[in-house]
Amino acid sequence: MSSALHDDGADVEMWEVPRVKEARIEGVQWGAISAEEIIDRSVIKVTEATVNRSGVPITNGPNDLRLGTDDRQQVCGYCGHGIAKCPGHMAYVDLPLPVVNVAYRAHLLALLHCYCYVCSRPLVAKDTPRYHQLMPMDPSARVGVVKKWIRDSHAKRGGVSCPHEECGAQQPVYVEVGTTIQTNFRITEYGPDTPQFTPTDMYTMLSVIDDDDLRLFGYSPEHSHPRNWMWRVFPVMPPIIRPASKTGGGDNQLTSRISSIVKLSNDLRRFDTKTLETVQVAKYNGLLCAERVVNPNYEEPVDEKAARAAYISLCTALGGYYNSDYDSKQYHRGVASKTCIWSIYSGGKQGRYRANLLGKRVMNAARNVIGPSNGISIDEAEVPIYQCMKLTYPERVNAYNIVRLTQAVYNGPDVYPGANYVVRGEIRIDLTGYSGDRVVLRYGDEVHRHLIEGDYVTGNRQPSLHRWSVMGHRIVPVTGNTMRIHMAVTKPYNADFDGDEMNFQVARGEEERAEVQMMLASNNLIKNGSAIVCFVMHSLVSIYRIGSETSIPYDMVMQMVTESLDEGDELIHVERRPYTGREAFSLILPRNLTMRKKDVVIVDGQWREGLIDKSVANGPSGIIQVIRIDFGMKEAARFIRRAYRFLDVYGTRVRPFSFTSADTRVDIKAPEGTPDDQLRDVLGDMAMRQLESRPGRNNLIDMYRSGAKGSANNIYQICGALGGQSKFDGRPYDDFTMHYGSDAIIRRSYNDGLTPTELLTHARPCREGMASTVKKTGEVGRRHRQVSFTLSSLATMPRALTHDRTDYHQHGIRYHPQ
Ligand SMILES: [Zn+2]
Ligand SMILES: [Zn+2]
Repeated sequence: MSSALHDDGADVEMWEVPRVKEARIEGVQWGAISAEEIIDRSVIKVTEATVNRSGVPITNGPNDLRLGTDDRQQVCGYCGHGIAKCPGHMAYVDLPLPVVNVAYRAHLLALLHCYCYVCSRPLVAKDTPRYHQLMPMDPSARVGVVKKWIRDSHAKRGGVSCPHEECGAQQPVYVEVGTTIQTNFRITEYGPDTPQFTPTDMYTMLSVIDDDDLRLFGYSPEHSHPRNWMWRVFPVMPPIIRPASKTGGGDNQLTSRISSIVKLSNDLRRFDTKTLETVQVAKYNGLLCAERVVNPNYEEPVDEKAARAAYISLCTALGGYYNSDYDSKQYHRGVASKTCIWSIYSGGKQGRYRANLLGKRVMNAARNVIGPSNGISIDEAEVPIYQCMKLTYPERVNAYNIVRLTQAVYNGPDVYPGANYVVRGEIRIDLTGYSGDRVVLRYGDEVHRHLIEGDYVTGNRQPSLHRWSVMGHRIVPVTGNTMRIHMAVTKPYNADFDGDEMNFQVARGEEERAEVQMMLASNNLIKNGSAIVCFVMHSLVSIYRIGSETSIPYDMVMQMVTESLDEGDELIHVERRPYTGREAFSLILPRNLTMRKKDVVIVDGQWREGLIDKSVANGPSGIIQVIRIDFGMKEAARFIRRAYRFLDVYGTRVRPFSFTSADTRVDIKAPEGTPDDQLRDVLGDMAMRQLESRPGRNNLIDMYRSGAKGSANNIYQICGALGGQSKFDGRPYDDFTMHYGSDAIIRRSYNDGLTPTELLTHARPCREGMASTVKKTGEVGRRHRQVSFTLSSLATMPRALTHDRTDYHQHGIRYHPQ
């Protein structure tokens, strides 16, 4: 981009795109942070357990001002910024003895089985048969194998010793106890060198393992050295992410836990160095004290006992900070503590991530129980007036709306349609309890007025599984307490009205309104060729039945047509004569509509032949789709709205629909010698034939043939026989024969009634069906989250390779080389 000609012909320098140095994140490496790194990132060492003294944070305490603050009145003692700018700073607590990090406990346990506790070398020596057995395996898989070998050797051969000649140490057995790892020694003879393995010994042992020996078992000395799996210092998070409760008073629970960790480590530090050296989590032939093995009368010094207890308390406190499952005595009682700790704070549905980061509460939205209303268009939604008075639209005053807005301001917040406040520049005038005639509007004022008819909202019903779970609507304020949507949109929202709730969010501004217009329900008519906003339930029965109507009286036709008309619709001429059902329905079809599907023939808007069922109404190249393609979205949406109202009148006043057991009565008997497993089909076919050949309308058949509800199998089971009961995967319940002497075939129908044995036989798959529905509901949600998270980490690489950036292959999406 060099230059361009200006109006006057002079060369004008074009605006240069600034060259920005581009940095690319190639990947993220996780690892265990080392004590040196923690100290390096810390601004202070926390030594005081007390948090505040008379409301002021204590120096070197968990809330020292140098860690930043959660108080708006204060500034950070380290960077000098207030709460808005200071991100908070880390600190650390110095631990007198290393402590096993609970998060790595299982890994550490496996690792300890692989290396000698004295010389830190692998317990599988080079060039032994076992070594060659290990080599072909993936390094990270070797640990598990070795762990099993060592465990077996302990159990079967009574011990394992180091294979290196100059060492040959007898290896202890390691077990998880509480939050830490206990070392169990077996001693048969008291020698001068009592085996001992203190936390410091463990730390040293981990530190001196050779890097190559670590890689042998898939460990990474660079990124996550096993010595960092033990805490020597404990990181303290800044107070800003563990804010004190402003209302309830008292400290944050994470803060209290940090405080108790500081206190416990101070307690432990009071013991002299010599006593601290004796502290270990170990047992000797089941005894806590090594000397007891040879001398049962030996009294352990009180100090050593107390130091060990203090150390274990510290371990438990550190474990409990991250996961309350490990908390103190409750851990051993098997009761999880409800106190707020790190894993509860951050993880799970109520944790920071899912509750506050991935999903947030929003302004200008309302939630309510939904109900049906077919008096509105498919892209309208009825919102109760009391909600319209809480939600507002900020409208800028101009010459065209000043009269209306002045009236709204005059009405105020309590009279509909009013306004809640007026914004003039920086000033906000609250209209609560204010007589609105004192505010004289000027051009440019922003009136936050109540919602009125035609305002745009987005509707949403959870779970939002696909795009059509969020659609645009124009609101219609109504009296009453529920929000109402058109029945044609129940399919995309997957809504029914048995207590379902939906959210509506107001589009507050011209851009938002334009965007919502693009996602109006009437713009969402298709999905894979069949209509997604479509005919459902009673409207399908009616549209099916009207096709075989031979004579509808003039006044009824008149009523149906009148009901279907809306403001702005073209007038329809109805002749003073009885109509056939097809003639009547043709009145609301677009005049030039010509289509043919199944046996349905429509020519120039005249329905000539056939019956309209679900697939002809909603399916690919069905009526809705043909109208949408030939006449546009608007016309298709209008047709749906009209047809619903037209069919509502037909289905309630011309030929009301209801369904009784009389519709299911049949007189059939299976032919002699019908095999039991064919009973359902044979009887079902007979029942179906009989119902269909009967004179007059059969409501069950109409419901099934129209596609509104029910399947052939439902009819077979009501009128014929229930037949063989099978598990959800289709296999029969053969164990019924084995255990109860009854097979899982039910020879009766719901009409006949079941025998007690049959009832119980039927109860089992019935119950299993319900249980799997319950399970599936949660599973679908979980799977949806997993898929969306997985896809968010996909990257398209050069040469059109698809790559899972996590590289862990744990999401089921793998690297595909061409
Ligand atoms: Zn700061
Ligand atoms: Zn050794």
